[in-house]
Amino acid sequence: MKRVFRLASILIITLMFVGCFNTVEPLKHTLIVSIQGEGFVDPTPGTYQFDKETLINISATASDDWVFSHWIGPVADTTANETTVLVEQETSVIAVFAQNSLTIQTGPGGLITRRIDGSRPASRSEKDIQYITIHAMSDALENPTNPYNMNRIRYIFDQYKVEAHYVIDRRGTVYQFVDDRFVARHAGVGRWNNDPKLTNNMNRFSIGIELLGIGADHEMLPVIGAANNLVSDIDRGFTDEQYQSIGMLVDQLMDRYQIPKHNILGHDDYDPERKWDPGVLFDWSRLE
Ligand SMILES: [Zn+2]
Repeated sequence: MKRVFRLASILIITLMFVGCFNTVEPLKHTLIVSIQGEGFVDPTPGTYQFDKETLINISATASDDWVFSHWIGPVADTTANETTVLVEQETSVIAVFAQNSLTIQTGPGGLITRRIDGSRPASRSEKDIQYITIHAMSDALENPTNPYNMNRIRYIFDQYKVEAHYVIDRRGTVYQFVDDRFVARHAGVGRWNNDPKLTNNMNRFSIGIELLGIGADHEMLPVIGAANNLVSDIDRGFTDEQYQSIGMLVDQLMDRYQIPKHNILGHDDYDPERKWDPGVLFDWSRLE
């Protein structure tokens, strides 16, 4: 009986040592990858074991009619579709995709069919719609510390005798002010691509999209003068939501009117001597 007891004790002590040695083995940490919405991730959704503090490349690709929105979890850059994650303990990463459906609201004050001077935007045929001109505007001249009030847009249009078909606010909401089938006054004087029909006449052939945005310091100083010093840096440039919306809007317009990619230009391309917008802070690569 004593002998059995001694053997059992040795066995238990041995097992304890094996247990101790086990804890010295490299620890595996868990990475859980999952998806919200419709898309693909690499690595594919599932649970993975990695040595502790392994840096993993992770990427997300949206399905058709969906867009990558952001990551939930401790990735290096939550808005980049390709980024890295450091696997520590139990790390969970979710790729969030949003449905690529654009809702367009009517701009405050309603669609412009008659201007304050009584004139009406000229109508045009659908085959005249061949270009897209991208602009930026704000209320920084009069309200440099609150430059993005949508309710001021109609007033600014009236004051400067201009208007655009679409205005995209800082949250990416798209407002329509002029129907595509009417000519809006947004591009003004300029020329493009040695095409005489476009000289000082881009409005007839193009859709104007205004992003609410303020350019770089050197672009704005000649335009808004002293007010430029009161503009907060966070109000310069454009938001991720605006890039997402303008991408969808441009896609939709290109499809609807068969507009080729090389017919999408900035106001500063059309009239480089006088116009700064959308300016150096607009990242054209994000329209791809
Ligand atoms: Zn412009």
